[in-house]
Amino acid sequence: MNLILLGAPGAGKGTQATKIAERYGIVHISTGDIFRANIKMGTEIGLLAKSYTEQGLLVPDEVTCAIVKDRLTWEDCQKGYLLDGFPRNLYQAEQLDTFAKIDGVVNINIDHKLLMDRLCGRRVCKECGESYHVSTLGGKTTCDRCGGELYQRKDDNPETVGARLAVYNEQTAPLIDYYSKKGLILNFTGSEAPAEVLFGEIKAVLDKFAK
Ligand code: ADP
Ligand code: ZN
Repeated sequence: MNLILLGAPGAGKGTQATKIAERYGIVHISTGDIFRANIKMGTEIGLLAKSYTEQGLLVPDEVTCAIVKDRLTWEDCQKGYLLDGFPRNLYQAEQLDTFAKIDGVVNINIDHKLLMDRLCGRRVCKECGESYHVSTLGGKTTCDRCGGELYQRKDDNPETVGARLAVYNEQTAPLIDYYSKKGLILNFTGSEAPAEVLFGEIKAVLDKFAK
């Protein structure tokens, strides 16, 4: 089962992606995680990506598409994969069609009023990637799951979040229509309820789908 996860920044893609990948035994591929790892390691791709991610802009398509195209040739993709954060515009979607066969697109709709606060208050575990919101941490600085240190992503500030949401609206949202026309969209609604609630809904649909 090869899936795409669509949704605005802050919709909860990362959290749902981890749960989906675990339940269905497929690989979670996050282009954002790939870029952050490269930035941390100071690779050539990292140096290039940094200037874009820091402004909330998309890393150039040629670079991003080449990374994903290569990643999908790895052995572990044989059992299926979940693309999180790719494609992000029509060009990337068209490119993906030339090297992948997608079975479904999980689209998380969410009230955009929730997103600014969610993203600016987000804290992420350095070790396992789990997300938290400052309002629920009560000053705690370590991860409940693994004890790892929590940090704030450099692009989770009001200015950059504004740019990321604009990019989503202009470039990524049209993909909902693109995949609807192909009959691939599975629609869900995110909310302030715990992530488990949304995952329950996604699971109910994907369990039937995976058969
Ligand atoms: P979010 O969905 O929370 O904004 P991601 O972790 O998916 O964040 O991505 C972080 C940043 O990495 C993006 O703002 C962008 O700069 C870059 N990026 C991730 N995926 C892509 C992509 N498919 N194309 C271009 N840039 C990307
Ligand atoms: Zn952790």
